Amino acid sequence: MQVPRSHPRYTSLITREKLVEGVKEGLAVLEGLIAHGRGEAFDYILGERTHDFAYEAEKTAVASILLAKSPIISVNGNTASLVAKEIAELSKTLNTPLEVNLFHYSKERVKKIADKLKSYGAKVYHEGDVSLEGLESTRRIVDSRGIYKADVVLVPLEDGDRCEVLKRHGKFVIAIDLNPLSRTARMADITIVDNIVRAIPNMIKFARELKSTNINLLKKIVRDYDNRHVLREAISAIRDYLTKMAGEL
Ligand code: ATP
Ligand code: MG
Repeated sequence: MQVPRSHPRYTSLITREKLVEGVKEGLAVLEGLIAHGRGEAFDYILGERTHDFAYEAEKTAVASILLAKSPIISVNGNTASLVAKEIAELSKTLNTPLEVNLFHYSKERVKKIADKLKSYGAKVYHEGDVSLEGLESTRRIVDSRGIYKADVVLVPLEDGDRCEVLKRHGKFVIAIDLNPLSRTARMADITIVDNIVRAIPNMIKFARELKSTNINLLKKIVRDYDNRHVLREAISAIRDYLTKMAGEL
């Protein structure tokens, strides 16, 4: 579909088109479209922009990845459809590999996603040779070099159950989730309440900026961060936006 640039919902429509393409290419599944719809609804009532609390979470997420011993970035079908190029760029800038990890598992889809990410020059793990104990879903199938041994895991568009299991396995979890009320958002160590299409480019900028930063400064960024405060700010931002809209009527 051709979306005219002048359309007031241009960015949102283009994002939808990318996901539909992703489904057609076999990268994403139909369930992914529904999950995106929930995200979009939250984006709408956040004013479809990156708020200060999200910039703070994005910056701290980058600092914690730079400080990690074995960091990993998990990629699912929606992420590959929306920001394959950008997440490969983030991976290279942070020198952190990607791992394909799917809720609706199929070998074929894993390969398609891995090939797409590799085409942008990223290092991608997708062996699926070990299981994370305590998880029923196929998301338990992970790579022994990646999520399994990682100390810090960036999991965009995560599902609450797996976030809980990653925490139980002692991992420091960074989530990207537009819903500040979700179990994932509440369980993660750092919750980026922002649309993934804005969050990853923002993180690339922070990565370039912080890459050569003194380790003590990185530690200070992580130490000073308070995720409960960030989530409170996100919920308050929704309340304030709704109050403003109601006031304009
Ligand atoms: P939980 O199990 O954590 O309570 P959930 O069941 O609502 O969460 P899922 O449907 O498993 O979550 O995953 C989708 C989540 O991803 C939603 O919370 C949604 O807000 C978020 N999401 C979807 N699309 C985007 C996007 N483009 N950017 C950021 N977040 C998104
Ligand atoms: Mg869920």
